[in-house]
Amino acid sequence: MLDKVVIANRGEIALRILRACRELGIKTVAVHSTADRDLKHVLLADETICIGKAPATESYLNIPAIISAAEVTDAVAIHPGYGFLAENADFAEQVEKSGYIFIGPSPEVIRLMGDKVSAITAMKKAGVPCVPGSDGPLGDDPKTNIQIAKRIGYPVIIKASGGGGGRGMRVVRSEAELLKSIELTQAEAGAAFGNPMVYMEKFLENPRHIEVQVLADGQGNAIHLAERDCSMQRRHQKVVEEAPAPGITEEMRKYIGERCARACVDINYRGAGTFEFLYENGEFYFIEMNTRIQVEHPVTEMVTGVDLIKEQLRIAAGQPLSITQDQVQVRGHAIECRINAEDPESFIPSPGNIDRFHPPGGMGIRWDSHIYAGYKVPPHYDSMIGKLITFGENRDIAIARMKNALRELVVGGIKTNVPLQQKIMADENFQNGGTNIHYLEKKLDASS
Ligand code: ADP
Repeated sequence: MLDKVVIANRGEIALRILRACRELGIKTVAVHSTADRDLKHVLLADETICIGKAPATESYLNIPAIISAAEVTDAVAIHPGYGFLAENADFAEQVEKSGYIFIGPSPEVIRLMGDKVSAITAMKKAGVPCVPGSDGPLGDDPKTNIQIAKRIGYPVIIKASGGGGGRGMRVVRSEAELLKSIELTQAEAGAAFGNPMVYMEKFLENPRHIEVQVLADGQGNAIHLAERDCSMQRRHQKVVEEAPAPGITEEMRKYIGERCARACVDINYRGAGTFEFLYENGEFYFIEMNTRIQVEHPVTEMVTGVDLIKEQLRIAAGQPLSITQDQVQVRGHAIECRINAEDPESFIPSPGNIDRFHPPGGMGIRWDSHIYAGYKVPPHYDSMIGKLITFGENRDIAIARMKNALRELVVGGIKTNVPLQQKIMADENFQNGGTNIHYLEKKLDASS
């Protein structure tokens, strides 16, 4: 096993990684900014190192400072968590070149999947279903581009190959707008991502977001751990996630899951990863792969019983997968509500001192969070302060438990989105399952 790991992140995921390390007997190093001295995992870690000032660019994104922390503590590996440097191929490369293990895939694979055009090309080759599209970057010839759009059929979407975070995309509904839109997206992509390459896809009007969790050991073994539905979104940010996805049969799960697992072997993937799909009219369409652990990983853990962070650590230590595909069974249903420090109506962040705190409890309740009474939520980072996860033998029970848990949770002194989550849990269409990615925004528009 690994001897000592640097946790290059903050908040709930840093605590989650620390807990997994402890279970495996791995020593931990918490690196933190000056604003994060009181983070729960910093208080619990074996060693701590302050790596810079509050702005992430000076701390959690400071590559030399993080690698130095590994050097001075004699750590052997670095876990990037999610966000920050988790999908930064240059970081992974520098970690490896400095003689440490990067807990994730190789820099080459991060690069391959980080560029959308090369990712789609690799996935098509591996037999993963993709959105009908231009099959590569768009060139400069207007006639060819008009023909491509005609073949795909309007509406189409122009997307930046280097895009991310829901930026660098433009929907085109008719030929009249096409050429101008391509030009605009190319210019924006060049400015925002340093790469003007764009491609074209069919625009799906009312899809759901369904994603497949995978684990691969880089030694030829890869498995899938079923799917999650993350369609409840606002501004491309997930708000509620669940596993399994309502209405997905065992047959469909096997069909899409096996293709993802096979693709992992094809591209020599190592670690935990997620294949994201849009799902419409019974068909899956690959849009991108996340080459890291995701925020919503706990719902998969609850229905499969597999500890994904411990698997990441074992794989990084060079061990083969501890489970086979046959041993992965989906049992029951799990839901996750992201709890954010924000105004539930205006969505304006609400940092500050938590003066009262009481976590929910009872059967099937999991609370992944770093907050405590007296903790001050800093204004510098993402507003998520915890994840409330419930499990039940079926979806109705998981929802009933979530309603109870949201009622029990007390976070005093700051505003949270708990009222919004309560509205979602009480929503009849959510309760029926299978709402699409536009549902929440439409519901919010209707009530404002
Ligand atoms: P990013 O890396 O910026 O998150 P994605 O490719 O994952 O980009 O797309 C982000 C979101 O944009 C999707 O979740 C979906 O809501 C929308 N989107 C992307 N491609 C399409 C498409 N072909 N049809 C409809 N919506 C799309």
